[in-house]
Amino acid sequence: MDFDLTEEHRLIQQTARRIAQEVVAPRAAEVDETGVYPEDYFQAFKQAELLGITLPKAVGGAEAGTLALTLAVEEMSKYDCSAGLMLLLSSLSTHTVKFFGTPEQQASYIGPVARGEKKAAFCLTEPDAGSDVANLQTRAVRDGDDYVITGQKCFISGGPIADQVVVFAKTNPPDPRSLNAFLVDTSMPGFEVTSVDRKMGVRGVPTGVLTFDNVRVSKDRLVGGTEGLGMKGPLTTLMSLRPVVGARGLGLAEGCLTYALNFARERRAFGGPLTDLQAIQMKFADMAIEIEAARQLVYQGSWMIDQGRYGPEHGHMLAIAKAFATETGNRVASSALQILGGQGYMMDHPLERHYRDARQLMIVEGTSEVQRVVIARALIDRNLVYP
Ligand SMILES: Cc1cc2nc3c(=O)[nH]c(=O)nc-3n(C[C@H](O)[C@H](O)[C@H](O)COP(=O)(O)OP(=O)(O)OC[C@H]3O[C@@H](n4cnc5c(N)ncnc54)[C@H](O)[C@@H]3O)c2cc1C
Repeated sequence: MDFDLTEEHRLIQQTARRIAQEVVAPRAAEVDETGVYPEDYFQAFKQAELLGITLPKAVGGAEAGTLALTLAVEEMSKYDCSAGLMLLLSSLSTHTVKFFGTPEQQASYIGPVARGEKKAAFCLTEPDAGSDVANLQTRAVRDGDDYVITGQKCFISGGPIADQVVVFAKTNPPDPRSLNAFLVDTSMPGFEVTSVDRKMGVRGVPTGVLTFDNVRVSKDRLVGGTEGLGMKGPLTTLMSLRPVVGARGLGLAEGCLTYALNFARERRAFGGPLTDLQAIQMKFADMAIEIEAARQLVYQGSWMIDQGRYGPEHGHMLAIAKAFATETGNRVASSALQILGGQGYMMDHPLERHYRDARQLMIVEGTSEVQRVVIARALIDRNLVYP
């Protein structure tokens, strides 16, 4: 068992850490308060070639793997969970095409995202189909050499600022086997950003409702070129990034611990620093235990994906990593805020922001409950056994 990072991993980690400290950290509070998309983060990521970490070299990506993305996302999320999401999003919005697209689709759709020339989004969730993906209603009707797409997608991260999106639609509803993915430019007639969400946290990346009203795309925008993608399209994409969502929770937790510890060293109560109080010490120890456990799960899950182990038979380990690390982010953010006392509740410190941001992580890309459904199913089916 080799727990060492490669030279390439370390290099990406260091680059991400530098950008996180120099570009992201000073701006994070302002980005949260204004809710304005941080184009300066994006340009810094582009310049450092961090946007194509998991994307093929053939189209301009770095092809450095999932663990490399995890390390970069972890660094960003120490200061701003939105920055972690921005890096994750370039993979989420393209992986369906990476796994199932034709070489031409990879060049035309993934290439510009990997090179930071275009922004993209992943359009799966609908008002009446979130966890229950098989129930989605958006339809794509074949018309000559085209498909005509009609439906509505909601909560789409980066949707309001995307140049292009991958959208899931059924060609023969309600049959879930007729689920397919299509590539849509947001400049196409019939596409509209209907509304932008007002939300609790992760305010640097806008989410919104996207409407497809008879959007006509040519058949070469059907991902893979032939119908029949089915549920494996969205599920493989989501599975390939579960530990990376966990990395957002891991980095956020580390950022919270570090901030609270620095505070506790200085803050005095009962004749000494807070760090002298055993009740406070125990909180820090508990945080470190959870963070290190989350790190093992997240790094292992990322490594598994890099070994090609992200099929249904591996789903429970990826689900465990996602659930534990995102819930760690929530627990640690809460404890760290508590250590600051009244000041923790105030916007003068970043902990209330981390606390709000953390809450998103237990909902997106498969809720904590859905991860537990996957884990329980693996136990019941004897796919996860402790002989
Ligand atoms: C900020 C934000 C960004 C997002 N970004 C994107 C994006 O970029 N692209 C995209 O497609 N979607 C995105 N989503 C949508 C997200 O993936 C869904 O919100 C999530 O999958 C849950 O779906 P839902 O909201 O419809 O809740 P529901 O599926 O209606 O679930 C409601 C509750 O029931 C529970 N539940 C549902 N089914 C089960 C079950 N079988 N067993 C036990 N409990 C269950 C859930 O865990 C939840 O607690 C985003 C959401 C948010 C909040």
